[in-house]
Amino acid sequence: MSSEPQQEDWLQLGRRHVWRPYTQEKIATPAVGIERTEGVRLFLQDGRVLVDGVSSWWTACHGYNHPHIRNAVAHQLEKMPHVMLGGLMHEPVARLAARLAAWMPGDLSRVFFTDSGSVAVEVALKIAVQSWINRGIVGRHKFLSFRGGYHGDTFACMSVCDPEEGMHGLFRGALAEQVVVPLPASEEDFRWFERCLEREHTRLAAVVLEPLLQGAGGMRVHTPLQLQKIAEITHRWGLLLILDEVATGFGRTGTMFACEQAGVVPDIICLSKALTGGTLPLAATVATERLYEHFFDDKSISALMHGPTFMGNALACAAGLASLELFEREPRLEQVARIEAQLETELAPCRDVDGVVDVRVKGAMGAVELDSDRDLEWMRGRFVEEGVWVRPLPKVVYLTPPFVISPEDLSTLGGAVRRVVQDWAQKKTRDA
Ligand SMILES: *Cc1c(COP(=O)(O)O)cnc(C)c1O
Repeated sequence: MSSEPQQEDWLQLGRRHVWRPYTQEKIATPAVGIERTEGVRLFLQDGRVLVDGVSSWWTACHGYNHPHIRNAVAHQLEKMPHVMLGGLMHEPVARLAARLAAWMPGDLSRVFFTDSGSVAVEVALKIAVQSWINRGIVGRHKFLSFRGGYHGDTFACMSVCDPEEGMHGLFRGALAEQVVVPLPASEEDFRWFERCLEREHTRLAAVVLEPLLQGAGGMRVHTPLQLQKIAEITHRWGLLLILDEVATGFGRTGTMFACEQAGVVPDIICLSKALTGGTLPLAATVATERLYEHFFDDKSISALMHGPTFMGNALACAAGLASLELFEREPRLEQVARIEAQLETELAPCRDVDGVVDVRVKGAMGAVELDSDRDLEWMRGRFVEEGVWVRPLPKVVYLTPPFVISPEDLSTLGGAVRRVVQDWAQKKTRDA
C-alpha cells in the first residue's frame, strides 16, 4: 500500500541528516551508499563492487571482516561489551596492554587507552606537559612540530599540525601557538634546527613527529637518518620525543613501527588507526617506564589527569588483541614488502605525466603528488567509475591498500591511478 512508510531510502536520509567529514555539502558529490564489506572489497547499495585502495583511512590492514577478529569481538560481546575503567580492570585491556608493551621497542610499556588518534595525541601532549610540572620545572608547555605534519583535528592537535593543514589562519586566536618548523634534511637544516632548540628548549615540553611518513598532511617521506638526527638533537636538549605513529604503526611503513627503522625509541608513542584492524575505534598512548616514574609518587596531584568514558572498551581491546595475533600468525610484513615493490612499478609511469610533481612509495603506501588541487571531486568520481575506492587528498592521489591485497587487485588499483591521473592531466590541458 502506498500509505506504508517508504521502504527506507536510507541514502536520502543520510544525505539530509549526516554531517560528513571535511565536506562542503553544497558542492561535493553525494556520498556513495555502501552496504557491506568483505576482504578488500566494498559492496555498494546499487550493486557495484569496488576494490579498496584506502583501507578506510589506513585501518583495515587485514582486509574487512577478518573472521579471526570478528570471532574475538563476538565472543567478548557475549561476556561483557564494556565497563568503566575507573577502579576496574578486565582481561582484554590487561592482555592488550601487555601485548603492546611486548611489541614496543625499548621500555615503552605503560599504556593509556583512548578512542581516537586525536585523543591519543592529546594525551601524549598532556603527559609531556604534566611530566615537567611533576618534576617541579615550570614554563615548559609549548611543542615543536614539523611542517607537513598531521596530528588530528582536536584543538591541541590542530596547533601542532602543519599551519595550513591545521587551519591555523582560520582558527587564529583559538589555537595555542607552537613552534612549527620545516623538517630538517640537509646539514645546514640540522644546524638551524639545533640553534632553534637551543633558543626554544626552556619553554618546550616535547618535539612531536610522525616518523618516516607524514600522512594526511601530504604523504611526505623522510629517511631513517633524518629521524635519528631529530631524535638525537631532541634528547640532547633534554626534550621529550613524541612519535605519532597513529598512521605508521602496525606495519604500514614496512616494520611493525616506523621508529624501528631508525633504531629510535621515543618517550611517548601514539597508536590508533590499524590497532583493531579497522574493526572498532581504539587508540593507545604508550610511555616509557622512565617517564611514567614522574607520575608515580605519594601525591594524588601527580596522577595523570585524563579519563575518557569509553577508555579500554572491552570489545575494542578484544579486536586489538585478535589483530596483533594476526600479525604474529600471518606474513603481514612480507606482504607489505611485496606491495611496496609492486607499487613502485605500478606508479612509476605517473612520473612522466604532465602536472605530476613526484611519485613516492614507502611500505604499503604509494602517492602521486600533483601540481594543483583542481578537479578533486571530479577525480574522486572517476575512481568510482574505474571500480576502485581511492580518495585523493588535495594535490595527492594515494594508495594505502589492505596488506592482504592480491597482486591482481593491486594492479587494478595501479591501473586506475595511472588512467585517472592521465585523464586529469588531459582535462587540465583541455580546460586551460
Ligand atoms: C589520523 C591521524 C590522527 C588522528 O586520528 P583520529 O582517529 O582521526 O582522531 C593523528 N595523527 C596521525 C598521524 C593520523 O594519521
